[in-house]
This record gives sequence, C-alpha cells and structure tokens, in this order.
Amino acid sequence: MIGMGILKGMAVTARNFVGSYFEKDRLITVQYPEERIPLAENYRNFPFLPYDGDDPHAGLRCVACKICEKECPPQCIYIIKSEDKKPDYMGKPQFYPAVFDIDISVCMSCQICVEVCPFEAIKMDKEFELSRRERFDALLLRKSDLAKSNDYYHSICPTDAADVDAKLAEAAAKKKPSPPAAPVGAPPASAA
Ligand code: SF4
Ligand code: SF4
Repeated sequence: MIGMGILKGMAVTARNFVGSYFEKDRLITVQYPEERIPLAENYRNFPFLPYDGDDPHAGLRCVACKICEKECPPQCIYIIKSEDKKPDYMGKPQFYPAVFDIDISVCMSCQICVEVCPFEAIKMDKEFELSRRERFDALLLRKSDLAKSNDYYHSICPTDAADVDAKLAEAAAKKKPSPPAAPVGAPPASAA
C-alpha cells in the first residue's frame, strides 16, 4: 500500500518519542559538550604516533621507513628520515623521523597508514574536537603533536594496545641471544 512505509516510520518515531520519557536508553541525544557518549573502542579519527616509556623521542617506534607516506592515498604524510640512529625497543639502532607531519585537512581517516606499518608505530586516534580558525598550518600536525604515549593508546584502545604490547614483547623475546651452550661433559645447570 502506498504510504505504508511512511506510516511505519512515523510509528517508530512516535514509539521512541513517548518511550524516551520512561526509558533513558531511548534518549539518543545528549547535551553536548556538557554530556558525552563514550566512544566505541574501534572509533577512529586521525593517526598518531605511539611511543614507549616517558620520552617521546627515545620511545618513538617509527623508524622512518616511509611506507605509510608512500601508501597514503591522498599523500598527506610528510617524513624526513634522520641522519643518525637511535635504539629501538629491542635495542637495535634505527633511523627515526626527523620530521613527521600529517595534514589532517587532507587525511581521510582511511587507516591505510596503520595497516601497512610493519612496526606498530602509527595508530588511529579518537580525538575529534579539532576545529580551528586557521585552515592551513593549524591543521598540519607535527611530530610533537602526533607523538602520544603508549599509556594514552591503552586509554583509548585497551584491547588493541594490549595485543600490540604482547606482539612486541614476543618479538623482543625471540631476538634475545640464547645463553651460551655448556661445554661437553659439564654437568647440567640444574645439577650445579
Ligand atoms: S588515515 Fe589514510 S589518509 Fe590519513 S594519513 Fe593515514 S593513510 Fe593517509
Ligand atoms: S609510521 Fe610505520 S610505516 Fe610510517 S614511517 Fe614510521 S615505521 Fe614506517
């Protein structure tokens, strides 16, 4: 019947309108910004660069391999590799980004940079209150804006952050040199 869809839609609206006076779950609007709905764990906005420990420079996981820069569809990542190296989380000397910028006026939040990074060094942030009066420089996030602690990552994405920690710890354990072999004829270590 013509108009049946409209009638059904209006019935749903009426049921929710009346119901919202009795059940809080039916209230789908909040008094933002005083009230906020918690964001879903998988909500994403723009990328950031997690670092381990307290020092954003020493703990930065990014090794400036530039894979994300090449793969970013709108080309909004700009990286300059360092001249020197610093130890990574396994103690291996690695380059780091002397410059790492993301133009969030261009970024389309596709997460491809995260998917292609082999070092768990770039993740998606949830920060969304980013409006600025100035259109250009204010929306160009520099390395100092992008670097955020692993604790922060845990606070916004606890499940993913715990998985990444476990993966990095496993990789670091595999890289640890095995203890030297006992000389032939020596008693086993447990018998000493
Ligand atoms: S989320 Fe997508 S568009 Fe934004 S920086 Fe990453 S790859 Fe580029
Ligand atoms: S964020 Fe990842 S992919 Fe991008 S340069 Fe750093 S290590 Fe490479």
